[in-house]
Parts: sequence; structure tokens; C-alpha cells
Amino acid sequence: MASSVSFSVRHREAGSPARSGELATAHGVVHTPAFVGVATQATIKAVEPQGLVDHGLQIVIANTYHLHLRPGEEAVAAIGGLHAFSGWGGPTMTDSGGFQIFSLGAGKEHGVGKVASIFPGEVGSPSARRREDGGRSLVRITEQGADFRSVVDGSLHTFTPESVITIERKLGADIVLPLDECTSPLHDYEYTKRAMERTHRWARRGLAAFDLLEGDPSFPNPRQGLYGIVQGGAYRDLREESARVIGGMGFTGCAIGGSLGRSKDEMFRVLDWTVPLLPEERPRHLLGIGEIEDLFAAVRRGVDTFDCAAPTRLARNGSVFLKGAPRHRINLRNARFARDDRPIDATCDCFTCRHHSRAYLRHLCRAGEVSFYRLATLHNLRFLVRLMAEIRHAIDADGFDALASEWGATV
Ligand SMILES: [Zn+2]
Repeated sequence: MASSVSFSVRHREAGSPARSGELATAHGVVHTPAFVGVATQATIKAVEPQGLVDHGLQIVIANTYHLHLRPGEEAVAAIGGLHAFSGWGGPTMTDSGGFQIFSLGAGKEHGVGKVASIFPGEVGSPSARRREDGGRSLVRITEQGADFRSVVDGSLHTFTPESVITIERKLGADIVLPLDECTSPLHDYEYTKRAMERTHRWARRGLAAFDLLEGDPSFPNPRQGLYGIVQGGAYRDLREESARVIGGMGFTGCAIGGSLGRSKDEMFRVLDWTVPLLPEERPRHLLGIGEIEDLFAAVRRGVDTFDCAAPTRLARNGSVFLKGAPRHRINLRNARFARDDRPIDATCDCFTCRHHSRAYLRHLCRAGEVSFYRLATLHNLRFLVRLMAEIRHAIDADGFDALASEWGATV
């Protein structure tokens, strides 16, 4: 497969799989390890692209499922693809929609997310929606693909491995992901194995479709790369098999997807089994994980990039990052900030910390002011951008574990 996305390792940490590197795309170089901002609807909620550039975000991930339903890939392609459409000129990824289909199907039936014990009960999570509609699945998965109902207007749609690649070619992100079948942490071994094997067959079909459309000048970004997705739930032999199969298929890079177990320990074990079997010279992405502790653990195991909606969602709920606070965050709704004239973080150079006090931000948050969403999101993104830079420097100086313990992270 010809690919215009390339990866080079800059430095391997002495005594650990952690590494720093450069991921080169048609729209710029991503210095890794890097946090990928979640821009589901071709925007990071509440922040315009220039705000992201000003705060050093390197790369964003949009969602094929949502953009297919609205506004449709043809509309995005007509404007010149995701970059021209959104005004974000930097590197971009698109997720395939496999996880959204899972959320409408098994995730809804089981009321769980990627890690069973972490997400249930969250507003808007599969478990929250389950209570609203009795957990009825809105998805039918067959060998051919997935039939599902639109969350926008209830219309029927079918995704196949081939149609998803065509949609992603029209959207034109730099790095795209093939259709996969996610499983829930509550699925048994047999189901998880069957889903993994189907994901492998879909990966081959996705790769063939991707190669068939390679170099077609009618697409907005002819220089795309395709990552394969490793599945296998929290079962060691399945994860190992999936890592070998996907790693051997000739993808530009590898993503680790699906259920990561029922606890953080299980999630770390899944990474321990998976990452060492992936091709050393190719980039590795972890899908949907991004708490501070998780990212230290993932980087320590050799993951190069990861995305997660939590940092921006937390921000909109008033929870902003502050090193040294419990879980490295404080909630601005708290009464103790009512007369606090300090910025969220005196060491932070984001727009919010340079201009506003905790007291004012608390007021905006409690008053439900729209400006609060932007200000809080900018801070949380800048916090992660700075943390990732710190992590890269630590790796280059063989000091990653010291940095992790400074942050109280168990790696
Ligand atoms: Zn800040």
C-alpha cells in the first residue's frame, strides 16, 4: 500500500518501550507522543480552529459516522474536504464509526462503554440512553457490514468496509480508520472471538478498497494513510492474535480499539499483550482513552497517539486540569473559588489563565454562559499539549519514569 503518511522514531527510552517520534502527514508533522483532540462534528466543541492552533494542538480526529449522517460526505467534499470545510489546516484523522455503531448496539444492550467500570452513568453514555429506550439495539451486524438507524432522523443506513473507506476518501482526513466491530466488556470469549475474526476480514476488505482508490485525484486529499484496528476484548490470546494479524497486513499504522476490560488494570494488561506484537516501525494509536494516569501508562507501553473526548467534556462541566490536585483537576463550581482571584493555573500560558480569575470562571460556569465552554476547553487542551511536550522531552532525556512519578502516575 502506498502511503503519504510516514513515521520515524526519534528516541527510544532506555529500559522501556516508551518512544518519541515524528508522524509526517500531508498537513504537517505531529510530534509524538501526542494527544489527538476529539472533533467529532469537524469541530472541537466550543473552540474555533485558530484557537486550537494558538494553543498548540497538533492533530484532531473527526467522526465518519456523524459526518456521514450530517452534513454528508458529499457536502464536505464539495467544499474541498475536511481541511477546507472546517478551516483546520493541520493533521486530521477520522474514526470509522465502528464505535458509534457499537454504542447503538451491544453497548446499548449492555449499558457499557470501552471500560465497563469507568463510563456507566455518564450523561449521554450508552448506559444513560439505555434507560431512555429500554436498551433496544438499533444495529444489525452481518458479514457484509452494519445496518443501523440514524440518531439524527431515524433513517436506515448501511456501512460496509468498502463504503466507509469511500466516505473517508471523500472527507479527506490524513489518517483514516477502517470499519471494525467493537465488543463490550460483557461479551463472552466466543462472541469476542467471532467479532475479532470479522474485524480482520473487514480490515482486509477496507485495505483493498483503500488501495483501489489510491491516487484518485477526484478526492480532496490523495495523500491519506490507513491504520488497522486491533480488537480482541480483554482476552490475551485474542489480543495477541489480532495484533499479529493486523500488524502483518500492511497498514500505515495500528490502532488499538474496542473493549479494554473491566478495570484500569485490565486495560493496562491489554496494552502489555498488544503493543509488543505491533510492528516497531509503525505508529500506534490508542482509541478513546485519555485520563492523565491512562496516558502515562499508554506512553510507557509504547503508544504514540491517543484521543479522548473526556478532557473537553470535563471542561464543559466545570472540571479543569490542575497539576497536583486530586486526579489533577478542580471543579470550578466549588464555592471555595467564589472569591479566588488567581488563574486556574499560575504556570499555564493559555488564553484563559492569562486573562481570567477562578472567581469569574466560576460565575460564568454557574450562570451557564456559553463563553465558559470555550474558556474551560482552551485551558484543558493547553494543559494536555504542555503535558505531552513535557513527556516527549522526558523520553528524549531517558527520564520518563521520573516524570510519571512526579505526576503520581502508576505506570
Ligand atoms: Zn490555562
